[in-house]
Amino acid sequence: MPVQPADLSPIYDAEPSRDCPRCPRLVGLRLQCRAEHPDWWNAPVPSFGDPNAWLAIVGLAPGKHGANRTGRPFTGDYAGDLLYATLEKFGLSEGRYGGSPDDGVRLKGAIILNAVKCLPPQNKTLPAEEASCRPFLMASIGALPKLTIFIALGKVAHDSLCRSFGVPLSKARFAHGAEHELPGGKRVLDSYHCSRYNQNTRRLTPAMFEQPFERALELR
Ligand code: SF4
Repeated sequence: MPVQPADLSPIYDAEPSRDCPRCPRLVGLRLQCRAEHPDWWNAPVPSFGDPNAWLAIVGLAPGKHGANRTGRPFTGDYAGDLLYATLEKFGLSEGRYGGSPDDGVRLKGAIILNAVKCLPPQNKTLPAEEASCRPFLMASIGALPKLTIFIALGKVAHDSLCRSFGVPLSKARFAHGAEHELPGGKRVLDSYHCSRYNQNTRRLTPAMFEQPFERALELR
């Protein structure tokens, strides 16, 4: 039997069910995708990585043709190409990324989480959806006792993470390259999201994307 994405979550108890009903708009899109693409994952995308991770990369939400299709975060789309290449470059993964959950890649000391676990229309989440999914983000963080550093990919991930830790956003504003303290001696490092749009417009270059990873390894 092929590897199933849910089998890859190292924190299975923190994951929502395949049919999580909490966000009606996202449930509607999920059902539409299931009808149009019955061979796709089309469900909340589980976390992927090392249960002993010290570093968490927090993304926004699954991409339609990436994680929503394959079931593994950032897998199978343009954003994932840069993220997995960067993880490999910094020794945070082993195996060769192949854009599919059965490519055998394993993360070492790192895990990928998402602020929102279901595909949103046009890659845009609503505040109510971010709030609805935050308990799953918090449960994931709670299930990973060795986490000390977060890399937030974009403002939504940054804000959801800060809210998870009770940090006022007025005291921790998102900016690429910014660094903020979180309770318990943890830190969040901000980066623009590695989306195709940000890469194509050169808002984010590969060199810029490497900065928070270099910093995370310095802080470790
Ligand atoms: S985004 Fe999160 S809370 Fe909303 S339906 Fe999906 S898993 Fe449930």
